[in-house]
Order: sequence, then structure tokens, then C-alpha cells
Amino acid sequence: MSFPTPRCTWGANRTHDPMPALPAVEYRICPAQPGAHLFEVSCTVRDPDPQGQVFRLPAWIPGSYMIREFARHIVTLRAEFNGEPWPIDKLDKHSWRAAPTAVKGTLSLHYEVYAWDLSVRAAHLDDSHGFFNGTSVFLAVDGRTDRPCLVDIERPSGTACRDWKVATALALARGVRGAARPYGFGVYRAADYDELIDHPVEMGEFTLGHFEAAGVTHDIVLSGRHDCDLERLGEDLRRVCEWQVALFGAPPPMDYYVFLTMVVGEGYGGLEHRASTALLCSRADLPWKGMAGGAETLPEGYKTFLGLCSHEYFHTWNVKRIKPAAFTPYDLSEENYTRLLWAFEGFTSYYDDLALVRSGVIKPEEYLELLAKTVSNVLRGSGRGKQSVAESSFDAWTKFYRQDENAPNALVSYYAKGALIALALDLQLRAGSEGRKSLDDVMRLLWQAHGQSGIGVAEDGIFAAVREVGGGTLGPRLARWLEKTVEGTEDLPLARLLKGFGVDYHAEPAGKTPELGVKLATGNGDEVRLATVYDGGPAQAAGLSAGDVLLALDGLKLSAKSMDAMLARRQVGDEVEIHAFRRDELRQFRLTLAAAEASKVSLKLAARAGAAVLKLRRGWLGSTK
Ligand code: ZN
Repeated sequence: MSFPTPRCTWGANRTHDPMPALPAVEYRICPAQPGAHLFEVSCTVRDPDPQGQVFRLPAWIPGSYMIREFARHIVTLRAEFNGEPWPIDKLDKHSWRAAPTAVKGTLSLHYEVYAWDLSVRAAHLDDSHGFFNGTSVFLAVDGRTDRPCLVDIERPSGTACRDWKVATALALARGVRGAARPYGFGVYRAADYDELIDHPVEMGEFTLGHFEAAGVTHDIVLSGRHDCDLERLGEDLRRVCEWQVALFGAPPPMDYYVFLTMVVGEGYGGLEHRASTALLCSRADLPWKGMAGGAETLPEGYKTFLGLCSHEYFHTWNVKRIKPAAFTPYDLSEENYTRLLWAFEGFTSYYDDLALVRSGVIKPEEYLELLAKTVSNVLRGSGRGKQSVAESSFDAWTKFYRQDENAPNALVSYYAKGALIALALDLQLRAGSEGRKSLDDVMRLLWQAHGQSGIGVAEDGIFAAVREVGGGTLGPRLARWLEKTVEGTEDLPLARLLKGFGVDYHAEPAGKTPELGVKLATGNGDEVRLATVYDGGPAQAAGLSAGDVLLALDGLKLSAKSMDAMLARRQVGDEVEIHAFRRDELRQFRLTLAAAEASKVSLKLAARAGAAVLKLRRGWLGSTK
């Protein structure tokens, strides 16, 4: 086994430049107190701003559009100038200014960061592993964010972390004293602050797998307890990654890639970076030796995990390099508004599962099941009639990322509906060009015009790309349709569009099952706690609220398990009596049961389809007959 060299190619020419004699900023980070979940960090600047050097920590992490105020986790902070204690003032919630300096010298900040957030967005440290995003731990030095950085990732003293390794796509600081060796502690480097914070770091006794895709080494790092069949995972991921590279065109824009995966009992999450992704997954979602494969369908959980990996990998192009103009550059101190997340998250959500079927990892029938779930999800909330995906994108900071119990009644997901818009656009491009054009061409055009050039996509840039790819009358017509669709709230004509591709769209007939119009909270055992009360449903009409705990229906005890069976014995239009606790007060409600909405959709390959339809379907799903 050969060890690859973790190295980032963002601005590949810079990676090979000789280091300047004095790097602008030197960082040191040590998982010094795992028991207290504290990273010790220092940031050293030669010849700081004599007027008073300013340092600041980002308020948010790119890819996760919410103000998180990471600086609140800085527990202690002090400054030294030429080795002596030096005054430093806090300017606001995430900025500090050191006292002015009259002579040249070295200014260092020493601070502790509390790391106990087991997510992909921040930092986590205990005696089993450490993980951090640069946005949580590395203060930016005003005026020097475009200069190179060195980071010494230090092994703590003592024997506790003796066998720990380091996994990251940060470049090894070759030629620098103390340079890290592959997977080792030591000095790494980044061309600038933007690159520094775009390479999360995992440390611990993780499991390591490798595969080659499109000539590039890809690592899979698994932290936490697991029984994963790494060979199987590597083989499936290789197919997905190769398909994506081929879509945009080889070579891929990075020369190393790592899937940093934290395995837990129950969890799900991912965050994209330019040459890596940080993932959180459930142990049960990973493949195991002896798992079904080949002619059989894959377990649902494994498909979920593969879809997540595929999603984050697609972002390597779409949002890490093809970016909204609003993100070039990012302003990490406050919200960066764009109406385009339906394209960057929605299109990525469309391609994540599509890449699984197009690369042959899942069957078309399995893909249609996944797609049907997305359709059903979008149709379930009345919020889709109140908010467009463009508005949802713009308000991501305060709405989509800060969902409350009323979210399904107020919001539409730019991920899920954005994916369906991508699907509808793809199908129309294919049908309108007799299979010669597709959304793949739009993605390639965006890659060439924006990804490779680094020029941000204007707010109307996606419409322009569709106009160009479609050409003739098709392009302008679809560009107008797209603009109207992303700014509007109409449901998509999916049944009609899918019919042209030999796929039957079947909505479960309305009016059969009586329902209350609620979504139950999960994770409360048998307790019937309402998570959401849907707009216009019987529960809302009767005055039930999210948070209420239902106790009895017509005098009989209700449980999460028994509720559906009890409702199934009643008719639409029946009146029922419900007893419930609101906080600690017992309340009584009278409800008239209503018919469930026709929101459950299934999609099937049509039993019969003509040659032209089959040709279109083959072009779309790759391997169908
Ligand atoms: Zn995403």
C-alpha cells in the first residue's frame, strides 16, 4: 500500500511555490485536554499591524447557512508580544484588537476552544477522537487572509493519544521544519485563510480505506465503533465518484479527496469542502460483510449513506467551485444572501441519487423509490404554496436553518423542491431535444464558465445557462419556465413529464384513510407528542397544538403504536373526542376526522413504452432497458 500525499490543488500552481521566508500566519493546535473538550490554539504573526492587529473568528461556516457565532466557544484568550504579555481588547462578539506596537516583533495569541459539538459544522474532542473545522478554531488575521498559513497539529504530551493519526486534505508542509508525514501530526500548510478553513481535520485511531477514482486517491476515514465492509464501500463509492468526474470532465479539480466519517448510533449529516467532506452517519447505515448485493436491492440505510456521500462529492464542483457571485468571496462575519440555493443544494440533491443509478450502484426501480419519497415530502407541507424556492434560499439563514414546529406550514425546502425542479428541467431538456441535451450539459457549461474561471454565478446566471444549452426556441422557453418556477409556488407537472420517460406516477387516492392532520415527534417511546399540526387539518381546527401530548381517543388510551389502527376503524367525517396534556394542563378537544391528502406518491417503470420513450429513459437513467 502506498501512502498518498494529502495535497490540495485549489490554485495548484501555488502548492508548488517555494514557501516565503516568513509565512504570514503560523497556527498551532493541540488536543490538549480531551477530558475537558479543550483544544489549545495559538496564532502567531510577525510584524503585526502597528496600529493594533485585529483578529476575528468566522460567524458561520460555508455550506451551512446559519450564523453560529463560533467565537462563543473561545474560553480564554491572551496575547504576547515578543514573548511578553500584551494587552488585547474584545471589539465585538467575534473580534479582538491587540494594543498598538511601536517596534517590530512577533505577536502571538493563545486561546482555548471548547469543542463538544458532535456535528460536521464545528469541533468535537474527547478521549476517543478530535475533529475540527478551521472556522471553529483558527482566528483570521486582518489584512493577512490572503497570505499563506502554516498549521502545526500537535500531539499532546503523555500516552493518551499515542496511537492517534491525523486525517485531512490540508497539504503537508514539505520542506518546513517539523513537516507532517502522511496521516501524521506535524506541520501542514494552506495557501491562504480561505483554504485553511476548508480542510477539516480528524484525529484519532480511525479506520482507513483507499480507492482510486479517475486517477486520484480517495480515502475513507471511519471514526467511532463500526463493522463496516470497507472494501464494498470503497468499490461502490469509486463507481459514483468516477461517474461524477466523467460528468464534469476529467481530470477532477483535486488531486486527493477524503471522506471524513464519524460513525455514531444514530446521526446524519454532511458538509462539503473543496477536497474532502465531513460526514456523520448511523452505524447501521454502513455496509457489512455478507450484506446483500448484486442482483438484490441494497438496504435502505446504505442507500441513504451512499446518497449522502454522493451529495457532498457533487459539491466539489457545484458550490465549492461553481459558486453564487454572492459567495465570491464569502463574508464570514454576517449572512451572505443569494436566491440561488435551489441550484446549489437542489441540483446537488437531484444528482446525488441520480449518480447512484447512473453509475449502476442501484437499480432504476430503487432510484424511482427514492425519487418518490422526495416527491411525497415536498407535497406534504402547505408551506410550498407560500414560499418559492428562491425565497427559501434567500431566507435560509433565518427560516430553513432555524425550523420550528410550524415549518411544514410555512416553508418549502430548496433541497427537496430544488431537486424536483432539476428533475423537471432535465426531463424537459431531454424531451425537447430528442435526447441530445440534458441538465448534464448545463452543469458542464456552469463548470467551464464559472467553476474553472472562479467567476461567481450571477443571480440570473442559471437561467442564462439553460437558455444557452437549450438553444433555438427550447432554451429561451425553458429559461422562462425555470425563472417562473423558482420564483413561484406552483406544483411541478411531474406526472406528465415522467410519462414521457416511461415512468408511471401514482398518487395514493385521497379520501380513504381518516386522519388528524398531525406529525408526531419521534424519540419519545410510545408517547403521542405532536411535532407539527398541519394547516387546515382536523387537529388545527379543533385547537390542538405542536407540543401537545395526546392521551386518549374516545376514552381509550392512545399510543404512538396504536393511533393509526384506532383511526383506521373510523370513517372520514366521524367526530372523536381527544384528551391531551398542554404543558401540565389536561384539555379536551372534539375533532371531525378528515381524509388524508393525496401526498403519498409511488413511481414505477411503465410496463409498456414505445421505442422513442425507452430511448429517452435509457438516456436519463443510464442502464434501464
Ligand atoms: Zn448540500
